[in-house]
Amino acid sequence: MSNPLYDGLFAAHEGKQTTFIFDSLTKSEVSYDAFLKQASQYANAITQQGLQPGDRLAAQVGKSVSTLALYAACVQAGVVYLPLNTAYTLAEIDYFVKDSGAKLLVCKPELAASMANMAKQYNAILMTQSDDGLSGSLPDAARSLPIEFTTVDRVNDDIASFLYTSGTTGRSKGAMLTQNNLLSNSETLKEAWEFTEEDVLLHALPIFHIHGLFVAVNVALKSGAKIILEPSFNLDRVIELLPNVTSLMGVPTFYTRLLNDERFNRALTQHMRLFISGSAPLLSETHVQFEQRTGHRILERYGMTETNMNTSNPYRGERRAGTVGFPLPNVELKITDPVTGDTLPTGEIGQIEVRGPNVFKGYWNMPEKTAEELRSNGYFITGDLGTIDEEGYVSIVGRNKDLIISGGYNIYPKEIELILDEQPGVVESAIIGVPHPDFGETVVGVLVADEKLVDLDKIQLAVKDALARFKHPRQLVVIDALPRNTMGKVQKNILRETYKGLFT
Ligand code: ATP
Ligand code: MG
Repeated sequence: MSNPLYDGLFAAHEGKQTTFIFDSLTKSEVSYDAFLKQASQYANAITQQGLQPGDRLAAQVGKSVSTLALYAACVQAGVVYLPLNTAYTLAEIDYFVKDSGAKLLVCKPELAASMANMAKQYNAILMTQSDDGLSGSLPDAARSLPIEFTTVDRVNDDIASFLYTSGTTGRSKGAMLTQNNLLSNSETLKEAWEFTEEDVLLHALPIFHIHGLFVAVNVALKSGAKIILEPSFNLDRVIELLPNVTSLMGVPTFYTRLLNDERFNRALTQHMRLFISGSAPLLSETHVQFEQRTGHRILERYGMTETNMNTSNPYRGERRAGTVGFPLPNVELKITDPVTGDTLPTGEIGQIEVRGPNVFKGYWNMPEKTAEELRSNGYFITGDLGTIDEEGYVSIVGRNKDLIISGGYNIYPKEIELILDEQPGVVESAIIGVPHPDFGETVVGVLVADEKLVDLDKIQLAVKDALARFKHPRQLVVIDALPRNTMGKVQKNILRETYKGLFT
C-alpha cells in the first residue's frame, strides 16, 4: 500500500541529515530527518483531534517550518490541506471555513478569541500556532507525541489540498487538487528547471498560494534541495542572502524592486543558477533590464491554482521576453475560439485551454462552475487569453474577463498597455473597459507615471500612430499605484469599479 504524494515528496528523505530548511525567523537549521519527525508529530496531533482521511484542515498561520510540517502531516494522514491567506479578515475566513466544511481551523493565537464563535458555529475545532511556529495549542500538543506515524494509504486521485484561487476576478474558488496533480507537477518542474540537491532556494513568497507552496516547496522537496525560508520579501535581506543561494522564485515585483537597487549587480548574482518569475506578467522591459544588469535571463513560467504550472520558458534554450515559453511535458495546450471552442490557427488570439495530469478535479461545491470550465474531454478553460507563435512560444494577452468589447470590436488591453508603458514618464499602466452609452464599453487607460515627465497629449498621439481608432483610450488618468493583491496581481475589477461612472 502507498501514499504517492507522501512517498514521493517526503518519505523519500527519511533519515537524511542534510538541511531541508534554514528558517530566518528563528535562525535555525532543520534537517530533512528532523522535519519528517516533526511532521509525524503533527500528524499524530491532528488525528488525535479526530481528523479522518478526507477531512479538511484550514490553516491561517504564519510562514514557518511548523506550517510546512503541518502540510506534510496532512499529506501523511490523508487530510485535505487548506492554507489561507494571512491577510484575510474574519468575515473572509468565515466563508472559507463554511464553504470547505473544515473540521479543524488553525489560527494565530492572537486571533483565537475573535475566531472562536465562528469555529463553533461550523463545528470546527480551533487550534493555534504562533508566527514562528513554536508556540500555540497545536505545536504544544504535537511536541509530546510520537515521532512515528503510520502513513495513511492514498491513491493518485485522492484530494490532497483545497487551494482557493486568488480572487482576482471574483470570489475565490476552492480548487480540488489531487495527490497526482501535485506530485506530477513537482516531477515535471524539477526536471524542466534542473533542480538538484545542490540547490539552495531563496524562498520569500507566501506559503498559502500555489507559487510559494506547491511550486517552490514541492520542487525543493522533490529534488532534495535546501530552502532559505524568509518571512516575506525584504529587499535588504534578499540582497544579503543572494550570495548564499542558487535560485530564486519570485513574482515580477521582486525583480523590479531588485532592479531599483544599485547593490543588485552582476557580481552579486554571478554564481546564481536560476531566477524564475510567475503569477503575474513580467514586463519585457524588466526582462531586458535584468539581463543587462546581471547577465541572467529571468525564466518566466505560467500557471494557476487549478492547474499548477502549464508552460515554462526553457532552462536550456532561448528564454524569450514577453512569453511564458512552451507547454511543459505532458501538458497539452491549445488556443480556442471562445464561442465555438474550435482550435484556432497559429498566431491567433483565443482562450487558453490545458489538459494534463496537473489539471485539478473541479471546484469544491461549485458543480456548475466546474462544468462550465472543465470540459468532459479533460480540457480546462483557463480564463486567460493568449497565442502560440510558429516556434511554439505561448504568450498571454490578458484575462478573458478583462477583454473589452467596444462597439462590437474585441480589444485586448495588453496591446495598448505595451504602447503606454513605452512612453516617457510612464512607470506602468492598466487598460480597462468601462460602461459607455454608445459603445457598450470604452477604453480607459490608468497610468502610474512621473508627473514631471509625463505628457498625456503626447501619449494620445503616440497611441493614435500605433493603433486603430477603436482601441484609443477615451481617457487617461494618472494614479499613484495600481491596486495589487498579495501575489502582485493587478486588480482590474477595483479599477473598473472606480471608473465605471466616467461616461454614464
Ligand atoms: P481568480 O481565479 O480567483 O480570479 P487568480 O486567477 O488571480 O484569481 P491564481 O490561480 O492565483 O488566481 O492566478 C492564476 C492567474 O495568474 C492565471 O490565470 C494568469 O492570469 C495569471 N498568471 C500566472 N502566471 C502568469 C504569467 N507568467 N504571466 C501572466 N499571467 C500569469
Ligand atoms: Mg483564476
